[in-house]
Amino acid sequence: MTSEEIIALAKRHTIFEWSMQGAVEPIAVAGAKGSHFWTPEGKRYLDFNSQLMCVNIGHGDPRVIRAIQAQAEALAYISPFLVSEPRARLGEKLAAIAPGDIDVFFFTNGGAEANENAMKIARWVTGRQKIMTFYRSYHGGTAGAISATGDPRRWTEPSMPGIVHVLNPYHGIEQGWDTADAALAYLDEVIRLEGPQTIAGFLLEPVVGTNGILIPPPGFLAGIRALCDKYGIVMIADEIMSGFGRTGEWFAVNHWNVVPDILTMAKGLTSAYVPLGAVGLRRPIADHFKDRLFASGLTYNSHPLACAAALATLRVYEEDHLIERARQMGAVMKGLLADLAERHSSVGAVRSIGLFGVVELVRDARTREPLAPFGGTSPEMKALNAYFREHGLFTFVRWHNFFTNPPLCITEAELREGFAIIDAALSRVLSGERTSVQTTSR
Ligand code: PLP
Repeated sequence: MTSEEIIALAKRHTIFEWSMQGAVEPIAVAGAKGSHFWTPEGKRYLDFNSQLMCVNIGHGDPRVIRAIQAQAEALAYISPFLVSEPRARLGEKLAAIAPGDIDVFFFTNGGAEANENAMKIARWVTGRQKIMTFYRSYHGGTAGAISATGDPRRWTEPSMPGIVHVLNPYHGIEQGWDTADAALAYLDEVIRLEGPQTIAGFLLEPVVGTNGILIPPPGFLAGIRALCDKYGIVMIADEIMSGFGRTGEWFAVNHWNVVPDILTMAKGLTSAYVPLGAVGLRRPIADHFKDRLFASGLTYNSHPLACAAALATLRVYEEDHLIERARQMGAVMKGLLADLAERHSSVGAVRSIGLFGVVELVRDARTREPLAPFGGTSPEMKALNAYFREHGLFTFVRWHNFFTNPPLCITEAELREGFAIIDAALSRVLSGERTSVQTTSR
């Protein structure tokens, strides 16, 4: 089928997520390899967002494909009350790479279900009901996870009772950051006012993803760990996006040597070759269920195909030294982001950790008014996205932000090629450039 035919047929019979159906403009994709994908007509795109921040090892890795094929032939599915070798081996492997004594895992189909189960576990273990979460967060699209979310995606939903939203230390491009001490004092006060004995868990993204790559100020995560210990609250780190090398460590919490009580994961776990999520538990939390019911389940829990895909994916991270690579390429990307900020007055802020990066655009360098309103878009942001696409760059453009989250296997030349397109886009599409148009790689 041609791109046109695929798009027309898909729009007729399928729903596109988080979108007005009349406004979607999908790209039809026929194949992908490494850091690129292409349309049926052969137009190539550089994937600067690892699709949905998930294809961390890159596209079309034959080692993972062969593992999936072999598992499909041996055993595609069994009931989760039975057990397969990939399930057993994956639990062991994750225990080896997860922080601290997180060494027991419950497998789900994806990230939202991992967070749903993490919140349930925190409630069972503490006998308390409330879950604290941040504004400027995303935790998934299912009923509980969207209630825990702190961004406009939850505005259309009636919220699950018992969620307490608290302010993140970042207050947007115009206001900037609280210090760790101020942010922690505020959290302590909220906990005391809510009643610590009512709060089961604190669910947070250690580095916030779609709400703007918010890297916590030094001491902040350790401070949250201390508050959770002080008040007997289960600390749940949502590493669904920040895990598996994205930040230059296996998990983002490793940057600050913090061990949460529960760690949720998905995306990079299989690099999205097959859907899989997991809830990692510290030993004492897992032990709670030795003589108490673990009252949750899923038909596809511990799916053998997904567990085999995850095992093969984890081997690729190790064989190709992708965590180290994310650190090295992350350093290159930091320089390229700084160049953009230097050259374009429309760049209000850049942030990155490993290969997890964002650019915040402003209408006016002095007032720092964002180039699109919170939760909305603008003609400029639409034009920028159109330029990226026309010039073969695929990335995530949201509100006044765009993201730079390429696969961890990206080469330096590819990284520079992507930034050259961005540089030209900012010069050509937006006014206010400080220098003349430059489109070649530096
Ligand atoms: N948590 C975070 C931090 C995420 O980024 C996402 C997805 O983007 C989720 C949870 C939800 O994961 P899924 O879409 O696999 O349900």
